[in-house]
Amino acid sequence: MLEAKGLTTVEDLLAYTPLRYEDRSNLKPIGQLAPGEMATVIAEVRSGKVVSFRRKNLGIFEAVLGDDSPEKLVAKWFNAAYLADKLVEGVRLALYGKVELDSYTGDLMLKSPEYEILTGDDEEGEASLHTGRVVPIYEACGKITTRVFRSILKRLLDSMGTLEDPLPPSICERLKLPDRTTATRFIHFPPETEDLRLLNAFRSQAHFRMIFEEFFWLECGLALKKAKARKQTGIQFELNERVREQIKAMLPFKPTGAQKKVLAEIAQDMANPHPMNRLLQGDVGSGKTLVAAEAAIIAIENGYQVAVLAPTEILATQHFFYFKNLFAKLNYVPVLLTGSATAREKSQLKKMIAAGLVQIAIGTHALLEPDVEFHRLGLAIVDEQHRFGVMQRLRLFEKGANPDVLVMTATPIPRTLALTVYGDLDTSVIDELPPGRKPIVTKHVTDDRVEQVYSSLKRQIDLGRQAYIVYPVIEESETVAMKAAQQMHTQLSEIVFPQFKVGLLHGKLPSNEKESVMAEFKRGGIQILVSTTVVEVGVDVPNANVMVIEQAERFGLAQLHQLRGRVGRGAEQSFCILVTGKLNETGRERIRTLVDSSDGFYIAEMDMKLRGPGEFFGTRQSGLPALRIANILRDQEILEIARNEAMAFVRNPPSPDDLRRAVGYIQSHWQRRYGLVQVG
Ligand code: ADP
Ligand code: MG
Repeated sequence: MLEAKGLTTVEDLLAYTPLRYEDRSNLKPIGQLAPGEMATVIAEVRSGKVVSFRRKNLGIFEAVLGDDSPEKLVAKWFNAAYLADKLVEGVRLALYGKVELDSYTGDLMLKSPEYEILTGDDEEGEASLHTGRVVPIYEACGKITTRVFRSILKRLLDSMGTLEDPLPPSICERLKLPDRTTATRFIHFPPETEDLRLLNAFRSQAHFRMIFEEFFWLECGLALKKAKARKQTGIQFELNERVREQIKAMLPFKPTGAQKKVLAEIAQDMANPHPMNRLLQGDVGSGKTLVAAEAAIIAIENGYQVAVLAPTEILATQHFFYFKNLFAKLNYVPVLLTGSATAREKSQLKKMIAAGLVQIAIGTHALLEPDVEFHRLGLAIVDEQHRFGVMQRLRLFEKGANPDVLVMTATPIPRTLALTVYGDLDTSVIDELPPGRKPIVTKHVTDDRVEQVYSSLKRQIDLGRQAYIVYPVIEESETVAMKAAQQMHTQLSEIVFPQFKVGLLHGKLPSNEKESVMAEFKRGGIQILVSTTVVEVGVDVPNANVMVIEQAERFGLAQLHQLRGRVGRGAEQSFCILVTGKLNETGRERIRTLVDSSDGFYIAEMDMKLRGPGEFFGTRQSGLPALRIANILRDQEILEIARNEAMAFVRNPPSPDDLRRAVGYIQSHWQRRYGLVQVG
């Protein structure tokens, strides 16, 4: 059972941190209980019954309890008919809860108290482990209850000597961290004097130390990986006059201040003799692609090739046309390589890439196939990175002689996640939108009022605008979403908007059809595009100014924001309409976040808070490390401290010996868990 939870060693058990703590030091006989106080009682079940059955297993279980006092105590648990089999007459219990007075009967009462069954074979000392003190509450694990964990850990700690402390002593001293042995004992059995609130907030000194330590090793690993990459020899691109002229010739508009700043950071990396590893972040529509194009020019003018990797065929196609347009004046040859090309086309394209006849190869996973060889790959641009694994980034890297790598993300990533998942990358942020953007008006409409949505849609189209209507797709069910979109397409094109041209786009369409639908929409031949989330990323049609999202409650916030970013690209006022069913409070809060804010970084933070860090990326290969005690949401400030300490430590270790010890420790303890490839 322990193994199923990943607890296979003593060390694992010691790291199994209590979920919370309860103060059971106020241990009282029933006769001395006073209404209003929190108290622990040890008593015996005298009788028990289920009252008020509503549904099976949903009754109230009521037990009458007694000890040596003349008074009796009533305990009630709601929706707990199942307790009838467990809390039978004669069972001894430790109960913990708030004492109340039943106004009808005048009995002392505990409502839904915490309880533990005291078994007959509990020795005296054992019992005092579970009551009469601040007790740790562990997450149960199969049949292993919190109580069993408490006993195991007590025995473990009693027989445990001093633990080796791997943290560098200089850091422990400066931050006044308790040593590992003390902290471990403390976390499982805190001293009486410790403030319960600090314990439950995971902010006792011992908690701080353990959380700090976990983040410290993670960030050290990332910093070491980064330092190692920095030492590799890479390409030293030259930033000469010709490069500048070509960039100027390509630019269709004046870059924003933020774009300039970010390009300067990228150019500096490229001019360095080491491989670039940079994450380019920016809100939807902030103009990341333009910056990527500038970087591509630097590489190409230096005689190198560029690869652009995109997660979907639609996005790859978009990029292809985007770059083709931008580079039209420069006589570069771009090619598009995706899974749907015929074998003959593919082999033709591959030959051209290998011969160096192509300056920029844009594609999906097909670009990663082993037989795609570059003549001279100098820059790899990876778009929407979080859909790719770290391994894929590596595969692309290996297609050149240490090429520079620029990773772009579709949506902003909360800082804490960026630090933990992309901590080995340098980061550039475009924090400004191109001028002249009107804020998008976002509205929430429940689906019983969808007619109103259609009439405002009609008004916009009569004015010459275009619109998207998007249906949700949950990863596994593109087919279901496709059907919904197909159905809706039929209804909209035949019944609601027979006067307009309504197009349909989904992931299962053959790619030439996808392309022609997109091209037709871009040309204005299609007024309404009904789509699954394949339009989520990258699609750029400035004349489209209405985005209707059906069943919006089924999307993540970041994804909704990304979809919304498809409009608001032209000069006209744009609208985003979120259509949902009836919502609960959380659902309303989520939708409200979007209606009220257009700040992608803020929305990303909220998304992470509402759905949890694991769900944020929406894929299993997100690279999120499995943390034991640290929590990215709760412990953000400790993460920042640990990161600073780790960076300083790696940059400037107190002694070579300290660094060697740290590398060894990370290799033996953390490398596999954090998925850090090669730190030393
Ligand atoms: P992102 O990839 O960050 O979502 P894009 O690179 O697709 O953003 O740019 C969004 C839109 O803004 C595109 O139509 C692009 O041509 C336009 N754009 C980018 N930079 C500028 C700029 N400096 N001035 C005006 N328009 C810009
Ligand atoms: Mg883009």
